[in-house]
Amino acid sequence: MSNQTLNLNNELYQYVLDHGLREPEVLTRLRADTNRLSEANMQISPEQGQFMALLVQLMGARKILEIGTFTGYSSTSMALALPDDGLIVCCDLSWSWTAMAREYWQEAGVDNKIDLRLAPALSTLNLLIDEGWDDFDIVFIDADKDNYLNYYESALRLLRPGGLIMVDNVLWGGNVVNAENHEPSTEAIRAFNRFVHQDDRVEISLVPIGDGLSLLRKL
Ligand code: CA
Repeated sequence: MSNQTLNLNNELYQYVLDHGLREPEVLTRLRADTNRLSEANMQISPEQGQFMALLVQLMGARKILEIGTFTGYSSTSMALALPDDGLIVCCDLSWSWTAMAREYWQEAGVDNKIDLRLAPALSTLNLLIDEGWDDFDIVFIDADKDNYLNYYESALRLLRPGGLIMVDNVLWGGNVVNAENHEPSTEAIRAFNRFVHQDDRVEISLVPIGDGLSLLRKL
């Protein structure tokens, strides 16, 4: 038997869901609602949402920054894992996507933990830095790939020491190893992965869950 991570075929993936997933009903509905949109592939997988929620609990996180909220699956998953006085600052550009998110934050009873900022994320991050925020426990990066390195640098400033950066889509549907693919987003993710691999400001683990999730712990 190889010591390589298992390749999940459909049957084995279904087994993972059947034996590993405990998805709250409100998240099941949100996922179904989002799957009707043409951009549905931007939604994280349910087992990834549950994994991120577990990390929130393990870290005893209270303050989270999310860059790229879409229709709210990841923020709702993490908000449900936060204590009552927890906070997620959510950055997105889309009023319509986050309208769906707002609906589900209310249904899940976590809307009091959400601070939605509808603006270009880099502007919001600069504002937070100017305001002196430096004690986020977790930053989740899942917005436009061209800005991943910029988001990462801002995240390092906004996190407490020992804080965690989670970066989504780092395997980009497998395109990171497709030599034919030179799309800007693919090149941006490759550049990001190369950079953090060498960056001694963080401890790293590239977890092959969903579309690839890098965990980067700020030293
Ligand atoms: Ca994503």
